Amino acid sequence: MGYLDILQGMSLEQIRAVIEVIQQSSDSFLFILDLNTDVYMVSEKATKRFPFDDTVMENSTEIFKRVVYPSDYAMLKADLEKCASGEQDTHALEYRWLDRKDRVVWISCQGMVVTGTEGHRLLVGRVSELGKKAKADNLTGLRREARFRLNAEALLRDRPDTIRYMMRIGIDNFKEINEKEGVEAGDEVLQELAECILNAVDEKVDVYRLMADEFMIVDASDTVPKKPRAVYNQIQKTIAHTAKMKEYSRFYTVSAGVVEKDFKGRSAEEVMRLTEFTLNEAKRNGRNQMAMYNQASYDEYLKRLDMRKALRRAVNHQFKGFEVYYQPIVSAPDYHVVGAEALLRWHSEEYGNVSPAVFVPILEESGLIIPVGRHVLWEAANICKKWQAYIPDFHVNVNLSYVQLYRSDLMKDVEKCIQEVGIDPDSLVLELTESGYIETDERIKNLFRELKEKKIDLALDDFGTGYSNMRYLKEIEAKTVKIDRSFVVQALQNEYDYSIISHIIDMVHSLGSYVCMEGIEEKEELNKMMKTKPDMIQGYYFGRPSPADQFEETFLQIKDSP
Ligand code: C2E
Ligand code: MG
Ligand code: MG
Repeated sequence: MGYLDILQGMSLEQIRAVIEVIQQSSDSFLFILDLNTDVYMVSEKATKRFPFDDTVMENSTEIFKRVVYPSDYAMLKADLEKCASGEQDTHALEYRWLDRKDRVVWISCQGMVVTGTEGHRLLVGRVSELGKKAKADNLTGLRREARFRLNAEALLRDRPDTIRYMMRIGIDNFKEINEKEGVEAGDEVLQELAECILNAVDEKVDVYRLMADEFMIVDASDTVPKKPRAVYNQIQKTIAHTAKMKEYSRFYTVSAGVVEKDFKGRSAEEVMRLTEFTLNEAKRNGRNQMAMYNQASYDEYLKRLDMRKALRRAVNHQFKGFEVYYQPIVSAPDYHVVGAEALLRWHSEEYGNVSPAVFVPILEESGLIIPVGRHVLWEAANICKKWQAYIPDFHVNVNLSYVQLYRSDLMKDVEKCIQEVGIDPDSLVLELTESGYIETDERIKNLFRELKEKKIDLALDDFGTGYSNMRYLKEIEAKTVKIDRSFVVQALQNEYDYSIISHIIDMVHSLGSYVCMEGIEEKEELNKMMKTKPDMIQGYYFGRPSPADQFEETFLQIKDSP
């Protein structure tokens, strides 16, 4: 019996319907299953890809046991029984097959029951590979993001209360594996991880592969509940075990972000965003760990995004809301004002006065620190020139971010500024924090060299908060070391830190650099710290950061001079 014999028993209407099914996709192939005799027929194409002996096979049960992924067999059998008994006339399932190399292939099978010759119930339909439509991944045997979105959308709409958790898993160093060991190694890691994940969850729990190196577990099953923490721990354990078995030839770690509740009313898109955020939290916290979704930190994150938008608007509107404040720096021990540090302020319409500790990191993340830093540089240089009419050696300190160093042509900006404004290079001191410095970077070293050649001074800021490494001092060739207030506070409280600061100051002096002590607030503090012999002092005791006109009034008596 061939296809034609079967089709002969059909009405024209039925044949047309069958043809329509077949034509839906060129990646699919046709099958006919005689539900009365168990005869199964597939097109030639299918026999090449899957372990079918022939195009016409007598015992479909045996064949399915070989082709269908074992744990999906029961589901298929139940559905076929409904078709055979007449309980249903259509068949639509997504499940797994095994190809000729025993690799898992996700397929979509759609068919309809027609009555053929001799009154047999025939299931006629097509099988298509989900991987070919990017809905399943033949590398890992998992369904892909497109399918996750469709399934999650239905799940969130129809039975959100049944979702126990969604866990998004990402490989911490996938890019590195791909780059250093090649794409094949990357593929192997993906396959291995897919197995580790499947091994950690019940078969009824859904696992998807999202883009690149990310996976998603969705537990909306009715199996014995297993906590996400236990699942994650088991995945980690299996990865570690596999690494050991393979004699540590390849090593990777994974992070995970888990959303456990509040699924009601959310879209698949939203859940994607929440799990992505939570996974990133795990990575931000140091990788190789699991993070639980937390509404407060997500709100905080959204606020930062909003703030970033507001900052961008400010930058695009001639730096509206930004203002540069100046704090006096006095010489020691005579306490004359010798300069000022330019400190940026942001008065936002939406957020009020925001601390630089909050907005500077956002400017850095977004790269906005480059135009804003340039703005501060010009403002500060202009004011310095103006104030030199009253204090000829006046210098202005400008804080630099490492983002400006790495991602903009800082040297060009500084030179242009000095030239346009018309100040001496040594009127400008660029402050760099100790913590962002990467000593091996040649570009940065060249920049320091060039700055020195052009006689622009550097100050090492926040000394005492990081490694307090004297080597940095030498590499940067900082003219000044600024000792951070937190260190000063410690020294005021205990003798040990006090003696460390004293020794550091001696050491800095022996290297030919100056010391500026930051954060002196009270007279007693000043008296005690002066014994360590700093060269300059900056602190509320001598003046808080203030707008330029206020600084002039207080420190330069601009009204009655020059
Ligand atoms: P920083 O460069 O170490 O600036 C010194 C900070 O100590 C300033 O905080 C200043 O107001 C504060 N301070 C000074 N004296 C005292 C004191 O006696 N007691 C106390 N408690 N604090 C004192 P501010 O203005 O909040 O700035 C914080 C940080 O933000 C700065 O630390 C700097 O790292 C960054 N920043 C400020 N403006 C800029 C800028 O234009 N560009 C960049 N890249 N960073 C900036
Ligand atoms: Mg500073
Ligand atoms: Mg400082």
